[in-house]
Amino acid sequence: MQTFSIAIHGGAGTLVKGLMTQELEAQYKEALKIARDLGYDILKQGGSALDAVEVSVKSLEDSPLFNAGKGAVFTAEGTHEMDAAIMEGKHLEAGAVSLITGIKNPVTLARDVMEKSYHVFLAGEGAMQFAKGLDYKVENPDYFYDDVRYQQWQGIKDSDTFQLDHSVKKDGKFGTVGAVACDQHGTVAAATSTGGMTNKKWGRVGDSPMIGAGNYANNKTCAVSCTGSGEFFIRGVVAYDVSCLMEHKDMSVEDASNEVIHKRILEINGDGGLIAVDAQGNIAMPFNTEGMYRASKSSNGDEEISIYK
Ligand code: ASP
Repeated sequence: MQTFSIAIHGGAGTLVKGLMTQELEAQYKEALKIARDLGYDILKQGGSALDAVEVSVKSLEDSPLFNAGKGAVFTAEGTHEMDAAIMEGKHLEAGAVSLITGIKNPVTLARDVMEKSYHVFLAGEGAMQFAKGLDYKVENPDYFYDDVRYQQWQGIKDSDTFQLDHSVKKDGKFGTVGAVACDQHGTVAAATSTGGMTNKKWGRVGDSPMIGAGNYANNKTCAVSCTGSGEFFIRGVVAYDVSCLMEHKDMSVEDASNEVIHKRILEINGDGGLIAVDAQGNIAMPFNTEGMYRASKSSNGDEEISIYK
């Protein structure tokens, strides 16, 4: 019987163990468990990988703990600009949005771009018009306000720097989110959602919504969702690179993912990690940072919820 499985992440970065309270760690693990199990239940009932990854990512977007949806970081202008992508591996269909504001679940808007428009990628004002045409509610900025994120931003607001929220050592809040799944039919899907980097400006877009960079799915190979400093993941075309190594070099999902995260992306100093699942349900979750919020569950009985190495 086809193995079905799901993996999710809540961001990779300098997650320093000593700076995390036990209580907060428990909160993160609980949020990961809820998100993972929501997706897994869909797979178990025979549902699609696409539905599973969307449900899991929505759950993470609704949590203030992660840098996506409700917990999105502040831009240089003190706003929240979010990016998301979703892709399924049978027909290579994909949808993505970038620089959107006020949308509670960017991953669902990305799916609507895939299913209800002729396009793959909508950005900014146009993406918002598309959302309004579908009667999306635009949340008040208060919905996205979070004191920890605000303090993160205050720390670098007057500088020219921008930063990966996962690498702020003094607090425990990190996390672009993503999910990959393989369903009972051997179809894979990937979804990724983020608020990007704290203090970003000039319409900066990271890898998360870019098909092939931060998110990719192909039944011939695997589904991948990335997290880390997006600039490097774009230049490394990381998600597609994992797929290419599998397709053209006949590597396993584990070997291909390790090769990209522990070798190829390091060659250009890229920090981060990824989650991947192949069409047989095998999972890989490598990262070259100190930690990555992650969880997985497979019908073969394997399951995991971890933060550090
Ligand atoms: N990759 C995301 C970006 O560059 C950030 C992250 O993974 O947290 O926008």
